[in-house]
Amino acid sequence: MTQTKRVLVTGGAGFLGSHLCDRLIASGCEVICLDNFFTGSKRNIAHLLANPAFEIKRHDLVDPILLEVDQIYNLACPASPVHYQYNPVKTVKTSVMGMINMLGLAKRVRARILQASTSEVYGDPVQHPQKETYWGNVNPIGPRSCYDESKRVAETLMMDYHRQNAVDIRIARIFNTYGPRMAVNDGRVVSNFIVQALRGEPITIYGDGSQTRSFCYVSDLIDGLMRLMNAEGLTGPVNIGNPGEFTIRELAELTISLTGSASKIVQRPLPQDDPVQRQPDITLAQEKLGWQPRVALKEGLIETIAYFEKTLSGEIVQPA
Ligand code: NAD
Ligand code: UDP
Repeated sequence: MTQTKRVLVTGGAGFLGSHLCDRLIASGCEVICLDNFFTGSKRNIAHLLANPAFEIKRHDLVDPILLEVDQIYNLACPASPVHYQYNPVKTVKTSVMGMINMLGLAKRVRARILQASTSEVYGDPVQHPQKETYWGNVNPIGPRSCYDESKRVAETLMMDYHRQNAVDIRIARIFNTYGPRMAVNDGRVVSNFIVQALRGEPITIYGDGSQTRSFCYVSDLIDGLMRLMNAEGLTGPVNIGNPGEFTIRELAELTISLTGSASKIVQRPLPQDDPVQRQPDITLAQEKLGWQPRVALKEGLIETIAYFEKTLSGEIVQPA
């Protein structure tokens, strides 16, 4: 008899978490979505509330919780620089105490646990593209370190619980991901540019726009996370991202052209420690998971623009 898997998704009401909940439910799992709604929204999971396979728990990950589950996807943590720098101490608590709480739970109920780590563990990388073997170049005392360093400690905790307590772990290093259900006020570059373009407001490039990022569409990312969770014999870390690398100026120009906006590009100061370049080496994911992204930036932007058009027109309601 095959039993239905019960899966915990922390941060399940957020951008990535809500898409993950959808895909898990569609694949026949029972899902417990845990969230404190700091950056997440009930709107993202409203369509799942009537589904008997879906359950929502308002809970802060900083506090321990006991649940009976088979798998844990640990996504709870603000991901936008604007939000993770709003209360940096809380960000560290969420990543570190939250990780300890989830690893304690995984150990106790013998659940497999996947941590949503980040390309930010590479900091401002001097190796390009970034391979999983690169140890990174992170400022430990800057405004981004509450996020970068606490995600690094979370990886350390994952490995130590694995070595010390044989907890079954998976570490995914996620690179910049975008798509529908990003919050209008998220503050990350793709949603900022689309919202500005649709509102006819200036497109705010930080610095001269020559810094690069590699943008992954959300459906590809979720596919990669689920493959990693369900693969055998691979703890990670594994890079999950789209190697297509663009300058921020190129992204601004593409957004203007796809929206047909009259918005003009303006320059704003470059935030401290903003990484100059970033591109994943995804050889490991390709070889071990048979995974690679399928959605090109232009295609993904068209979907995301359609979503924000509906959101801004009030057809999809987002909280202020
Ligand atoms: P998001 O801000 O939309 O989602 C984070 C979710 O976690 C929200 O629903 C929020 O309310 C919840 N949360 C925050 N603190 C919490 C706490 N203390 N207790 C309970 N819930 C809490 O961000 P996202 O883009 O969906 O990111 C999800 C995860 O993926 C994060 O861990 C992030 O670090 C990681 N990640 C995302 C990206 C990306 O590009 N989207 C890149 C690298 C890593
Ligand atoms: N950025 C920008 N304008 C914005 C928001 C961000 O030029 O309105 C830049 C930011 O300085 C960075 C890049 O876009 O160089 C990606 O920023 P984001 O906050 O999306 O992600 P991260 O820096 O964490 O990769």
